Amino acid sequence: MNDHYQVIDNRWLVDVFSVGPLQCNCTIIGDLTSKQCLVFDPGGQAVDIFNRTKKHHLDISALICTHAHFDHILAAGDLHQLTGALIYLNRHDFSLWKSLELQCNFFNIPYQPIPNPQHWIVDEQVLPCCSGIALHTPGHTPGSMSFWFESACLLIAGDTLFRHSVGRTDLWGGNQEQLQRSIREKLYTLDEKALVITGHGLLTTISEEKRMNRIVPAIPC
Ligand SMILES: [Zn+2]
Repeated sequence: MNDHYQVIDNRWLVDVFSVGPLQCNCTIIGDLTSKQCLVFDPGGQAVDIFNRTKKHHLDISALICTHAHFDHILAAGDLHQLTGALIYLNRHDFSLWKSLELQCNFFNIPYQPIPNPQHWIVDEQVLPCCSGIALHTPGHTPGSMSFWFESACLLIAGDTLFRHSVGRTDLWGGNQEQLQRSIREKLYTLDEKALVITGHGLLTTISEEKRMNRIVPAIPC
């Protein structure tokens, strides 16, 4: 289990827990003042995710998918049905989204249709709560996004950056050079103290990855 729960500055609630068939890290980031929250990577267990937001007394203002791999999106439709919150995705991952059935078959996962995204996220877009900013970080997929929360000094990296590693680039639309550029130019330039919520497995920090990442060292070899 990689569960992580934290309240930062008495204002920002962070709840990370793994969901779905590949144990994707789903994250709730909430603003305890406005009582709104964002849900990132609803990869499964829609009712569990919904119940956690209720336990925290938060309403979901958006369902945000870092990218369109099945293990990050499978509960998006059910959560949209339950709450009415809109599903956010970068448009460059829409063809991947539409291939959900093929992805599920490829990984031998039961397929369940989901509605299309209702909002296209773009680079540097301000999110509807918690003062988050979207960063387009292509490479793992063409539309992979990361999300920077300056006030909480926290980054959601999806499958772009893992602890001491990076996301695979051998699947549909992956590009290793692009991934390395995204990490060096968009993520390693952030505050070194920032907590990084990865798409799977352990969390990390920017400084840890700049020193210890096996695939993308801070200074190119
Ligand atoms: Zn992925």
